[in-house]
Amino acid sequence: MGIMGKSTNVFIALTMVAGLASSASAADGPSFAYSGDTGPGFWSETPGWETCARSTEPGARQTPINIRKATEDDSLGPLQLTLLDTELHLINNGHTIEQEYETGSSLNVGGAPFDLLQFHFHTQSEHAVRGKRGVMELHAVFRDAMSGDLAVVGVLYKLGKKSEFLADLMAEGLPEKAGDTVISHHEVNLSDALTDAGSYYTYPGSLTTPPCSEIVTWFVLTEQATMSQAQFKSFNNIMGNNFRPLQARNNRTVRVTASDDDDDDD
Ligand SMILES: [Zn+2]
Repeated sequence: MGIMGKSTNVFIALTMVAGLASSASAADGPSFAYSGDTGPGFWSETPGWETCARSTEPGARQTPINIRKATEDDSLGPLQLTLLDTELHLINNGHTIEQEYETGSSLNVGGAPFDLLQFHFHTQSEHAVRGKRGVMELHAVFRDAMSGDLAVVGVLYKLGKKSEFLADLMAEGLPEKAGDTVISHHEVNLSDALTDAGSYYTYPGSLTTPPCSEIVTWFVLTEQATMSQAQFKSFNNIMGNNFRPLQARNNRTVRVTASDDDDDDD
């Protein structure tokens, strides 16, 4: 009886997740892709997604951008993160592979606690640094419940040593098709994905998917993580090229934490 009850619960949970995923894809609502006639150049043609075409308009703050000529700012301290373990709950929503995060983890932004909702991936990276993209980028999405504003922490990956964090995340396999999920009691922690939360670029930007809302404060870690070629293939085979083209920086300032160069003794 206990086993029956448990498997029924799992079935309901999976059905709900699949329902959410399909409601976000072609069947019901508007859809988007990264190429073809629903690719980035056409996102703004869907009513409500007009912001996606703002890139070069005065005052526009679209993401991603090419990060270069950042202004060093001594007042930027390490990211104030509270990160708890969370059970594996990966979903493939047709656009990305996403880990849903249990409540209780947060990022303090200007005195306000932004709650960690989820993290997900893009191949290649969305941001470029001095003109060069990484092979993958992790986005950890935090939201201020009061204002609805978002803060996203980005980590770029380059090919190299295998990532232990990704190996752990993939331990039970990745959700291969839209609507698939991987759920288990195995716990992961976003902190294991962060190279150095004391060194980052920050700038005002947007969502990189429709509706491209300009409500995001971005924090992109300066130190890139590494992943193996096999790990890259595992993600890229499922997600394809799910990165948005670079957007105009306009007159935005990108700030960077002060470097601790030895010759800069203070
Ligand atoms: Zn993203």
